[in-house]
Amino acid sequence: MNLVFLGYPGSGKGTQAKILSERRKFAHLSTGDMFREEIAKGSELGLKVKSIISSGKLVSDEIVLEVIENKISSLKQDTIFDGFPRTVEQAEALENMLEKYSRQVDAVLFFEVDEAEVVKRLSARRSCSCGRVYNVLTSPPLKEGVCDSCGKTLFIREDDKPDVVSKRIDVYKDLTSPLISYYRIQGIFHIIKADKPSEEVYSQIESVLVKVGV
Ligand SMILES: [Zn+2]
Repeated sequence: MNLVFLGYPGSGKGTQAKILSERRKFAHLSTGDMFREEIAKGSELGLKVKSIISSGKLVSDEIVLEVIENKISSLKQDTIFDGFPRTVEQAEALENMLEKYSRQVDAVLFFEVDEAEVVKRLSARRSCSCGRVYNVLTSPPLKEGVCDSCGKTLFIREDDKPDVVSKRIDVYKDLTSPLISYYRIQGIFHIIKADKPSEEVYSQIESVLVKVGV
Protein backbone atom coordinates (compact mmCIF):
# COMPACT_ATOMS: atom_id res chain seq x y z
CA MET A 1 0.00 0.00 0.00
CA ASN A 2 1.43 3.35 -1.08
CA LEU A 3 -0.25 6.63 -0.27
CA VAL A 4 0.51 10.11 -1.58
CA PHE A 5 -0.37 13.03 0.70
CA LEU A 6 -1.06 16.33 -1.07
CA GLY A 7 -1.99 19.67 0.44
CA TYR A 8 -1.21 23.35 0.80
CA PRO A 9 1.52 24.49 3.12
CA GLY A 10 -0.19 24.66 6.50
CA SER A 11 -2.82 21.99 5.70
CA GLY A 12 -1.55 19.71 8.47
CA LYS A 13 -0.73 16.79 6.16
CA GLY A 14 2.71 16.28 7.71
CA THR A 15 1.17 15.96 11.16
CA GLN A 16 -1.40 13.44 9.93
CA ALA A 17 1.30 11.45 8.13
CA LYS A 18 3.17 11.24 11.41
CA ILE A 19 0.08 10.03 13.30
CA LEU A 20 -0.71 7.42 10.65
CA SER A 21 2.85 6.13 10.61
CA GLU A 22 2.76 5.71 14.39
CA ARG A 23 -0.65 4.01 14.58
CA ARG A 24 -0.54 1.85 11.46
CA LYS A 25 3.21 1.34 11.06
CA PHE A 26 3.39 3.13 7.74
CA ALA A 27 6.81 4.33 6.64
CA HIS A 28 6.65 8.13 6.36
CA LEU A 29 8.79 9.35 3.48
CA SER A 30 9.11 13.10 3.67
CA THR A 31 11.58 14.39 1.11
CA GLY A 32 12.85 17.08 3.49
CA ASP A 33 13.54 14.51 6.23
CA MET A 34 15.22 12.14 3.77
CA PHE A 35 17.56 14.89 2.58
CA ARG A 36 18.52 15.74 6.15
CA GLU A 37 19.12 12.05 6.86
CA GLU A 38 21.40 11.54 3.85
CA ILE A 39 23.33 14.69 4.74
CA ALA A 40 23.73 13.54 8.35
CA LYS A 41 24.97 10.11 7.17
CA GLY A 42 27.55 11.88 4.99
CA SER A 43 26.68 9.57 2.07
CA GLU A 44 27.76 10.44 -1.45
CA LEU A 45 24.17 11.39 -2.19
CA GLY A 46 24.02 13.47 0.99
CA LEU A 47 27.09 15.44 -0.04
CA LYS A 48 25.56 16.08 -3.44
CA VAL A 49 22.28 17.29 -1.91
CA LYS A 50 24.12 19.44 0.61
CA SER A 51 26.11 21.30 -2.04
CA ILE A 52 22.95 21.92 -4.10
CA ILE A 53 20.98 23.23 -1.15
CA SER A 54 23.80 25.39 0.17
CA SER A 55 24.18 27.01 -3.26
CA GLY A 56 20.52 27.99 -2.98
CA LYS A 57 19.37 25.77 -5.86
CA LEU A 58 16.46 23.35 -5.99
CA VAL A 59 17.21 19.66 -5.84
CA SER A 60 16.42 18.13 -9.24
CA ASP A 61 13.68 15.52 -9.75
CA GLU A 62 16.37 13.01 -10.63
CA ILE A 63 18.09 13.36 -7.27
CA VAL A 64 14.83 13.37 -5.32
CA LEU A 65 13.93 10.08 -7.01
CA GLU A 66 17.35 8.66 -6.27
CA VAL A 67 16.87 9.48 -2.58
CA ILE A 68 13.40 7.89 -2.59
CA GLU A 69 14.57 4.80 -4.45
CA ASN A 70 17.37 4.39 -1.92
CA LYS A 71 14.69 4.05 0.74
CA ILE A 72 12.11 2.05 -1.20
CA SER A 73 14.57 -0.59 -2.36
CA SER A 74 14.96 -1.91 1.19
CA LEU A 75 11.46 -1.11 2.46
CA LYS A 76 8.77 -3.75 2.90
CA GLN A 77 6.22 -1.59 4.75
CA ASP A 78 3.24 0.38 3.57
CA THR A 79 4.44 3.86 2.71
CA ILE A 80 3.27 7.47 2.76
CA PHE A 81 4.85 9.90 0.29
CA ASP A 82 4.73 13.36 1.83
CA GLY A 83 5.88 16.32 -0.25
CA PHE A 84 6.46 14.31 -3.41
CA PRO A 85 5.30 14.18 -6.20
CA ARG A 86 4.38 17.81 -6.85
CA THR A 87 4.09 17.72 -10.62
CA VAL A 88 2.72 15.29 -13.21
CA GLU A 89 6.27 14.64 -14.46
CA GLN A 90 7.32 13.65 -10.95
CA ALA A 91 4.24 11.46 -10.56
CA GLU A 92 5.08 9.58 -13.76
CA ALA A 93 8.68 9.17 -12.70
CA LEU A 94 7.58 7.88 -9.29
CA GLU A 95 5.25 5.36 -10.93
CA ASN A 96 8.01 4.00 -13.15
CA MET A 97 10.34 3.67 -10.22
CA LEU A 98 7.73 1.97 -7.98
CA GLU A 99 7.00 -0.56 -10.72
CA LYS A 100 10.52 -1.93 -10.35
CA TYR A 101 9.62 -2.92 -6.81
CA SER A 102 6.14 -4.23 -7.72
CA ARG A 103 4.57 -1.24 -6.04
CA GLN A 104 2.06 1.34 -7.19
CA VAL A 105 0.34 4.44 -5.83
CA ASP A 106 -2.89 3.06 -4.34
CA ALA A 107 -4.49 6.24 -3.04
CA VAL A 108 -3.88 9.97 -3.14
CA LEU A 109 -5.20 12.00 -0.23
CA PHE A 110 -5.68 15.70 -0.80
CA PHE A 111 -5.85 17.70 2.44
CA GLU A 112 -8.32 20.38 1.51
CA VAL A 113 -8.43 23.59 3.51
CA ASP A 114 -10.01 26.91 2.86
CA GLU A 115 -7.35 29.23 1.43
CA ALA A 116 -8.37 32.13 3.64
CA GLU A 117 -8.06 29.80 6.63
CA VAL A 118 -4.49 28.84 5.70
CA VAL A 119 -3.52 32.48 5.27
CA LYS A 120 -5.03 33.23 8.67
CA ARG A 121 -3.35 30.25 10.31
CA LEU A 122 0.11 30.88 8.88
CA SER A 123 -0.09 34.64 9.40
CA ALA A 124 -0.77 34.02 13.09
CA ARG A 125 2.71 32.60 13.53
CA ARG A 126 5.25 34.57 15.55
CA SER A 127 8.85 33.49 15.71
CA CYS A 128 11.71 34.07 18.11
CA SER A 129 15.41 34.08 17.24
CA CYS A 130 15.82 31.30 19.85
CA GLY A 131 13.85 28.97 17.55
CA ARG A 132 10.53 28.97 19.38
CA VAL A 133 7.38 29.48 17.30
CA TYR A 134 4.04 30.73 18.64
CA ASN A 135 0.58 31.00 17.14
CA VAL A 136 -1.27 34.06 18.40
CA LEU A 137 -4.62 32.32 17.81
CA THR A 138 -3.97 28.91 19.33
CA SER A 139 -0.79 29.10 21.43
CA PRO A 140 0.09 32.71 22.21
CA PRO A 141 3.00 33.71 24.47
CA LEU A 142 2.13 34.73 28.06
CA LYS A 143 3.04 38.34 27.33
CA GLU A 144 2.09 39.69 23.92
CA GLY A 145 5.03 39.95 21.52
CA VAL A 146 7.57 38.53 24.00
CA CYS A 147 9.13 35.05 24.04
CA ASP A 148 8.29 32.94 27.12
CA SER A 149 11.62 31.12 26.92
CA CYS A 150 14.13 33.91 26.45
CA GLY A 151 12.31 37.26 26.75
CA LYS A 152 13.25 38.50 23.29
CA THR A 153 10.83 40.34 20.98
CA LEU A 154 8.89 38.09 18.60
CA PHE A 155 8.77 38.75 14.87
CA ILE A 156 6.84 37.60 11.79
CA ARG A 157 8.95 35.56 9.41
CA GLU A 158 9.02 36.82 5.81
CA ASP A 159 7.44 33.49 4.75
CA ASP A 160 4.50 34.00 7.09
CA LYS A 161 3.43 37.46 5.93
CA PRO A 162 -0.10 37.29 4.46
CA ASP A 163 0.85 38.37 0.92
CA VAL A 164 3.76 35.93 0.86
CA VAL A 165 1.53 33.13 2.17
CA SER A 166 -1.04 33.86 -0.56
CA LYS A 167 1.71 33.74 -3.13
CA ARG A 168 3.01 30.39 -1.84
CA ILE A 169 -0.51 29.01 -2.16
CA ASP A 170 -0.83 30.32 -5.74
CA VAL A 171 2.47 28.72 -6.70
CA TYR A 172 1.35 25.46 -5.14
CA LYS A 173 -1.98 25.57 -6.96
CA ASP A 174 -0.41 26.23 -10.37
CA LEU A 175 1.95 23.35 -9.84
CA THR A 176 -0.45 20.80 -8.43
CA SER A 177 -3.78 21.31 -10.17
CA PRO A 178 -2.66 19.25 -13.20
CA LEU A 179 -1.46 16.61 -10.73
CA ILE A 180 -4.88 16.51 -9.08
CA SER A 181 -6.60 15.94 -12.45
CA TYR A 182 -4.03 13.29 -13.27
CA TYR A 183 -4.82 11.28 -10.14
CA ARG A 184 -8.54 11.96 -10.39
CA ILE A 185 -8.68 10.32 -13.83
CA GLN A 186 -7.00 7.25 -12.35
CA GLY A 187 -9.78 7.02 -9.78
CA ILE A 188 -7.44 7.02 -6.80
CA PHE A 189 -8.00 10.61 -5.64
CA HIS A 190 -9.65 11.26 -2.25
CA ILE A 191 -10.46 14.54 -0.56
CA ILE A 192 -9.82 14.91 3.16
CA LYS A 193 -11.54 17.86 4.78
CA ALA A 194 -8.57 19.12 6.76
CA ASP A 195 -10.33 22.11 8.37
CA LYS A 196 -11.44 19.87 11.27
CA PRO A 197 -9.92 18.87 14.60
CA SER A 198 -7.02 16.44 14.25
CA GLU A 199 -8.93 13.30 15.32
CA GLU A 200 -11.74 14.03 12.84
CA VAL A 201 -9.23 14.45 10.06
CA TYR A 202 -7.61 11.19 11.08
CA SER A 203 -10.89 9.26 10.98
CA GLN A 204 -11.47 10.46 7.42
CA ILE A 205 -8.08 8.99 6.55
CA GLU A 206 -9.10 5.69 8.16
CA SER A 207 -12.28 5.65 6.04
CA VAL A 208 -10.22 6.02 2.87
CA LEU A 209 -7.96 3.16 3.99
CA VAL A 210 -11.01 0.96 4.51
CA LYS A 211 -12.29 1.91 1.05
CA VAL A 212 -9.01 0.97 -0.64
CA GLY A 213 -8.78 -2.19 1.40
CA VAL A 214 -6.13 -1.85 4.08
ZN1 LIG B 1 12.93 33.04 22.47
